[in-house]
Amino acid sequence: MKRDTGQNRDVTKNWRPATKAIRSGTRRTEFGETSEALFMTSGYTYDCAQDAAARFNGEQTGMTYSRLQNPTVQMLEERIAMMEGAEACRAMASGMAAMTASLLCQLEAGDHVVASRALFGSCRWLTDSLLPKFGIETTVIDGRELDNWERAITPKTKVFFFETPANPTMDIIDLRAVCELARAKGITSIVDNAFATSVLQRPLEFGADVIAYSATKMMDGQGRVMAGAVCGSEEFIETTLLSFTRNTGPTLSAFNAWVVLKGLETLDLRIRKQSESALEIGRFLEQRVEKILLPGLPSHPQHDLAMSQMEAAGPIFSLYVGGGRKEAHAFLNALKVIDISNNIGDTRSLMCHPSSTTHHGLGEESRLEIGISEDMLRISVGLEDPADLIEDLDQALSSIGL
Ligand SMILES: *Cc1c(COP(=O)(O)O)cnc(C)c1O
Repeated sequence: MKRDTGQNRDVTKNWRPATKAIRSGTRRTEFGETSEALFMTSGYTYDCAQDAAARFNGEQTGMTYSRLQNPTVQMLEERIAMMEGAEACRAMASGMAAMTASLLCQLEAGDHVVASRALFGSCRWLTDSLLPKFGIETTVIDGRELDNWERAITPKTKVFFFETPANPTMDIIDLRAVCELARAKGITSIVDNAFATSVLQRPLEFGADVIAYSATKMMDGQGRVMAGAVCGSEEFIETTLLSFTRNTGPTLSAFNAWVVLKGLETLDLRIRKQSESALEIGRFLEQRVEKILLPGLPSHPQHDLAMSQMEAAGPIFSLYVGGGRKEAHAFLNALKVIDISNNIGDTRSLMCHPSSTTHHGLGEESRLEIGISEDMLRISVGLEDPADLIEDLDQALSSIGL
């Protein structure tokens, strides 16, 4: 009997998460390669004209064009779906392609969206600037309170859109409560799970409908490629999402899919180790700065909720150094190991000043409303020895008199 390489769901669904991350979705060619093959092809050929016709009218399975299907991309989609516990997944060219597609594929003029206000900067641009241009009304709320979701619902509400933990304030949203409310009202919930990934948090288990990802972050995990993904029911992916993405083309390149496949193989190890290092660094920083927001520490106002829906709090958190932009910038400039970068989820520790970078476009009023003050910094803890990172933070704090 032939060994199963990772395509048979009856077999792979019983694997534990770390095994799925390495083996799910693998489809070997006749050469029996161990590592997944990279299919750099835009098109496919047919043995005869009748085969081409049969493939286009759906009578014959097989690939027709890499905007629609690619073997390397399909291996990644199957792996992410299995890890997430989703019926189906489609990979996208970036996280923002995934967010945009998951919203626009199901919305039309006259519809209404409720979104939590603490969102990735470009996601706020979608809710505040893009959707209204097409006659889709959005209400942005403090998503930490269930009442706010309930009050914002109108007869036209079609979608709830949020991330948890949220960037960069580390707000936690009660997945079970908000997704159950959405279900009860016939509203589709879309959860951006980029900060946690399926290793630490599986929103489908709490009743979410659609999971949208930036795979650029923890999934690649080594700061190399842009990628995204949308997971959901077979019905949502096949009937609602596919016609939108096939015709608008936010397709992931096979090369980037291959890189993310390799990244997923170490995701479980990386995110657990980086979460542990983040706690160690958080405990150090707590003694030295005004405030830190790390859901894994009891000082976080939503610590209990975070730990009830996540296995660990992840590698990203924020800190407030006191003073204003001058102090925050001076602190960043004094770092010698940790890089100044707005990226996250890398093996390298990275730090940025959200109010002058990632959330610059939001405007001061909206920033302050969600707690992005001028003295706030965000850190993404990497895989370096945490002792070296603590020494670096220590000397940078001393240099600004802390
Ligand atoms: C990075 C990020 C995005 C956007 O993803 P890209 O891959 O940069 O397009 C969306 N949401 C969250 C929470 C992110 O961190």
